[in-house]
Amino acid sequence: MRSFGYRRGVLQAQGITLEALARRFGTPLYVYDFDAVGAAYAAYARAFAGREHRICFAVKANGNLALLRRLAGWGSGFDVVSGGELARVRRAGGAAGGGVFSGVGKTAAEMDQALAAGILLFQVESEPELELLAERAARRRRRARFGLRVNPDVAAATHPHIATGERGHKFGVAMEAAERLYLRSRRGAMGRWLEAEAIGFHIGSQILDPAPFALAARRVGELGAALERQGVKLRTFDAGGGLGIAYERGQRPPSLAAYARALGQGWAGARERRLLLEPGRSLVAAAGALLARVLYVKEQGKQTYVILDAGANDLLRPSLYGAYHEIAPLRRRAGRRRAVEVVGPLCETGDAFAHARPLPPLQAGDGVALLDAGAYGFALSSNYNARPRAAEVALEGGLTRLIRRREGTQDLWNGEVV
Ligand SMILES: *Cc1c(COP(=O)(O)O)cnc(C)c1O
Repeated sequence: MRSFGYRRGVLQAQGITLEALARRFGTPLYVYDFDAVGAAYAAYARAFAGREHRICFAVKANGNLALLRRLAGWGSGFDVVSGGELARVRRAGGAAGGGVFSGVGKTAAEMDQALAAGILLFQVESEPELELLAERAARRRRRARFGLRVNPDVAAATHPHIATGERGHKFGVAMEAAERLYLRSRRGAMGRWLEAEAIGFHIGSQILDPAPFALAARRVGELGAALERQGVKLRTFDAGGGLGIAYERGQRPPSLAAYARALGQGWAGARERRLLLEPGRSLVAAAGALLARVLYVKEQGKQTYVILDAGANDLLRPSLYGAYHEIAPLRRRAGRRRAVEVVGPLCETGDAFAHARPLPPLQAGDGVALLDAGAYGFALSSNYNARPRAAEVALEGGLTRLIRRREGTQDLWNGEVV
């Protein structure tokens, strides 16, 4: 459910008009409806209430401390992919004991950090990584719980940059290798310092069809069952994240009930295990918007360019993946819609939010919202073109709170040496 809708012709959330926020905090501005994130979290918890489960929010989707703090308060664990993300979680008051450490390139220092913090689980993605984890655990004299992220060789219909579960991808351990690695982890020094706790997968992001989830769960589940017959008890089944959302009209993500069914049907044995879920996008995307203002409307050749004060450095998804974000004027505009190019100010032709987008007439000074920007929005933002990063605001119970101040000029060269 989107948080943003028109009331009496003005775009609002929780009864707060976005134009007022744009005036008060300036643009570009990220706005998040924390109540909507809470509702999305509660819906997940309800959909999986019938079984032992743990929701670990994927921090890379949106790492703002205030958001992490709320999620921790609601009982969420966290999926982190770097030592920096783990530090964020802890700074926000989240417990490392409820966390999963994923990613293909964990360093020794990151492993040490996670071991010291008492992380719930390392999702290991290769044999050399397993060896390094055993070595670090031995050095710290702390047993490391791990699971293998198995690559189930499942194709998911999503953008090629965010599909991760096929044989040719860098992610996960091939099915054939996984069995041998689990058995190896029980022998010798490895057996002393490693504890096989989980088996899991993560096949990609923005997946709108439940079938690949079911197929992955079945394949990985069969492997789990085979391991069990060999005496490897795996307490946790990690089904990763990846559930998509409706960015565009006509896109229909599965309901949480259908998603839960797909995962459950995949492997009967999963019922006896703790299910771990790592949603990112589906918890926060629809609860966020990026507010911007029109700087110029420029007619050139046959095109009309609507030039915003937000660029690809603020919201990269359209440039990076050709992603669609609905664009809604902050005040409803009368007049015939025309197909326009909505672009940012960066010196890159690729700095564009929408091509041939039918929009009502817009003028310089008008505010617009790029919707569904709560996930992989601010998180992917940068200082490219020496642009300070946007401010972030949270709406909660009808109240407004600045949760990240706008960067200033000094922030642009912070750490640099002349
Ligand atoms: C990115 C990621 C997720 C979250 O994916 P979403 O599509 O945002 O739900 C979960 N698990 C892992 C390992 C990831 O890398």
